[in-house]
Amino acid sequence: MKILLEMGDITRKHVDVIVNAANKTLLGGGGVDGAIHRAAGPALLACCSALGGCETGEAKLTPGFNLPASYVIHTPGPVYSAAQHAQSVKLLENCYWNSLSLADQAKCRTIAFPSISTGAYHFPVVDAARIALRTLVRFGKERAINLQAATMVLFDPETYRAYQFAMKELWDELK
Ligand code: ADP
Repeated sequence: MKILLEMGDITRKHVDVIVNAANKTLLGGGGVDGAIHRAAGPALLACCSALGGCETGEAKLTPGFNLPASYVIHTPGPVYSAAQHAQSVKLLENCYWNSLSLADQAKCRTIAFPSISTGAYHFPVVDAARIALRTLVRFGKERAINLQAATMVLFDPETYRAYQFAMKELWDELK
């Protein structure tokens, strides 16, 4: 599975599935969640309303409706807590791992992620980037059957630079 970084708006991605950094209600919110609901249209909210919410770190699949992507995977990231750092790390790992598993089971070949939990949920971005990329690499090695490419779609230059930094660090380690 290839891993790619780019700057951009995830709602514009022509991939099989995009991931939504949702909240536990799955009833929409601000940030990337709001952008995805606006671009997908009201049918997405109607569909999400029937799902009964989602626990932090778990993932649920819906159609993409008016989005260029066929599906959306909704995963609530952890609200970052420095006092419970290890727990926050585990939950963020679960978001990536469970989203990848669900996408692979749905026979998706391409997936795009936003930077989960680093906006309103305040996860330190370099730590979050390390967790995201390590989990993508591990899934690619251990589990991917259908998935061929995972793209991190980063919305602002600072977040993009943090992921580039974490990617280089990981690359140097694997050399
Ligand atoms: P969380 O509540 O999980 O922290 P946010 O939506 O507040 O989620 O932020 C997560 C990341 O998504 C932030 O880096 C934010 O800048 C980014 N983001 C916001 N809109 C978009 C978009 N349209 N495409 C990709 N990323 C986005």
